[in-house]
Amino acid sequence: MTAFSLEPAQLAWCAELRTLAAERLRPLADKGEPGQVNRALVAELGSLGLLGRLFTSGALDLCLMRESLAYACTEAETALALQGLGAHPVHAHGTREQRARWLPRVADGTAIAAFALSEAGAGSDAAALELRAEPAAPALAAAPDGPARWRLTGEKCWISNAPEADFYTVFARTTPGAGARGVTAFLVPADRKGLTGRGLDMLSPHPIGALGFDAVPVTADDVLGEVDRGFRVAMGTLNLFRPSVGAFAVGMAQAALDATLAHTAGRDAFGGKLKDLQTVAHQVAEMALRTEAARLMVHAAASAYDAGAPDVPRRSAMAKLLATETAQYVVDTAVQLHGARALQRGHLLEHLYREVRAPRVYEGASEVQRGIIAKELYARQEAR
Ligand SMILES: Cc1cc2nc3c(=O)[nH]c(=O)nc-3n(C[C@H](O)[C@H](O)[C@H](O)COP(=O)(O)OP(=O)(O)OC[C@H]3O[C@@H](n4cnc5c(N)ncnc54)[C@H](O)[C@@H]3O)c2cc1C
Repeated sequence: MTAFSLEPAQLAWCAELRTLAAERLRPLADKGEPGQVNRALVAELGSLGLLGRLFTSGALDLCLMRESLAYACTEAETALALQGLGAHPVHAHGTREQRARWLPRVADGTAIAAFALSEAGAGSDAAALELRAEPAAPALAAAPDGPARWRLTGEKCWISNAPEADFYTVFARTTPGAGARGVTAFLVPADRKGLTGRGLDMLSPHPIGALGFDAVPVTADDVLGEVDRGFRVAMGTLNLFRPSVGAFAVGMAQAALDATLAHTAGRDAFGGKLKDLQTVAHQVAEMALRTEAARLMVHAAASAYDAGAPDVPRRSAMAKLLATETAQYVVDTAVQLHGARALQRGHLLEHLYREVRAPRVYEGASEVQRGIIAKELYARQEAR
């Protein structure tokens, strides 16, 4: 790829993905239950080889997949992203046993993964999380030469794919009062005793829920990475996924833009077509301009990640911020230019209008991204 455009093979792959999303994934998504994990859809993503690619290719590939799927089927896009988010910590930090048990099933779509960081009292300030990992009571503890054991007690909230996932990457506090330095990542299979959950009803039907941990037993064999170093596992995963949230947003923006081009070119108004009104045409131009700028920034941030560049957190934050805010603007403008029909239930834009809102909040709200950008800028200034 040059600095400003994709290779022909990448463009062809994106076109193929958009077709697959429309023809193979959209029908499965339509058959799913709103707000629940759609296992048939995830299995199809697996048999198309897309889930496997989550672990064999880089950030740019991830962005191209997310953008292309989102264009034609946001449900497929989200299902793919959630498999990646939940399983990336296992891929990057898991032991041979953990990887062998779960990754093939994540890749073929038979195991559903989830990433459990947020709590009702700790969202943006994730380092304040309180789910306790307490050493198991002596009577329950392992033999002296056995693995370390803990009990997880507390709650997680707004966890995508909960409570239906087959396993969770759970971030728990192993050292009280130590902030980000006292958090450990655990791989918790859904059938562990004491683990319960309930679904949450969101603006846009999304498989998501809250989890309850009532002294759920875990051992050293369940740790992902190192004890007390789990925050790095979380942040490493988010650094990879942040530009791709932007890609999801760009895919939605492009879908809204294309729908608007078709609509304004065909809609009769005032003796001509809507597009003949200069204010309308200029709004469409503005939508296209901002979508393209966001796309370029997303691709640049993902390429920087793949190249191991030093300024990935700032660039990822910029890409996620710009793309999600842009998509909100583009979808909103598309609704305006469509008029009432866009607000009818079942219309593409009614769907996108609900769908586009959450990415400005999750994986770091827009304000949090601005904080990351400013922090890095001032750190560089001081280092001069
Ligand atoms: C659809 C959806 C899916 C999700 N999936 C997952 C998941 O799979 N796993 C998971 O762990 N979590 C998930 N989340 C939770 C998500 O990560 C949190 O919602 C997010 O971190 C924000 O936390 P909060 O909602 O508690 O908002 P708060 O932290 O209470 O923030 C509220 C608002 O305060 C402002 N604010 C916060 N911090 C700052 C700051 N530093 N500077 C300036 N302003 C600030 C922002 O406007 C922010 O939106 C999901 C959320 C949604 C909506």
